[in-house]
Amino acid sequence: MIQNPPTQPRFILDGMLGSLARWLRLFGYDTLYSDTQSDDEILDLIQDRVLLTRDIELIARARAQGFKALNPGEGSVETMLESLQDKLGVRFTEDPNRSRCSQCNTPVRLVPKEEVEGDVPEGSFKRHHKFWRCTNPACQKVYWQGRHWIRIRRILNQLGSNS
Ligand SMILES: [Zn+2]
Repeated sequence: MIQNPPTQPRFILDGMLGSLARWLRLFGYDTLYSDTQSDDEILDLIQDRVLLTRDIELIARARAQGFKALNPGEGSVETMLESLQDKLGVRFTEDPNRSRCSQCNTPVRLVPKEEVEGDVPEGSFKRHHKFWRCTNPACQKVYWQGRHWIRIRRILNQLGSNS
């Protein structure tokens, strides 16, 4: 098991914030997310996690129980990530070796290229040399730095943390 450094918060997001959840996982943050969880289920799962939700009532309920809860705001993913940087002092950096699977939140690991042959589109297999696989045996999703990586770099540049 790869553990986060103690200063790195863990998150739980409500069902409206799926896209933000995928980005937080990509940047290596342990992030619980399900679009089917009720408010009560979320409150049961929070523990030491920071709750992100736009639901003011849920924020109030969480805070009343002593949990940390924040509204990441409206707008683009960039705007929300920026707001988390400001409010929590977190940094988002490009390190695919620390990423978590966007689908199941399990850490990914770099795997030898030949291991993913047949599991990724042929074109991507030819063009790329580094592949990461989700370490959850039930998931095993494969990742590579495809076109979407350009957007990731752009966002990190905007956030000023891609140094
Ligand atoms: Zn996975």
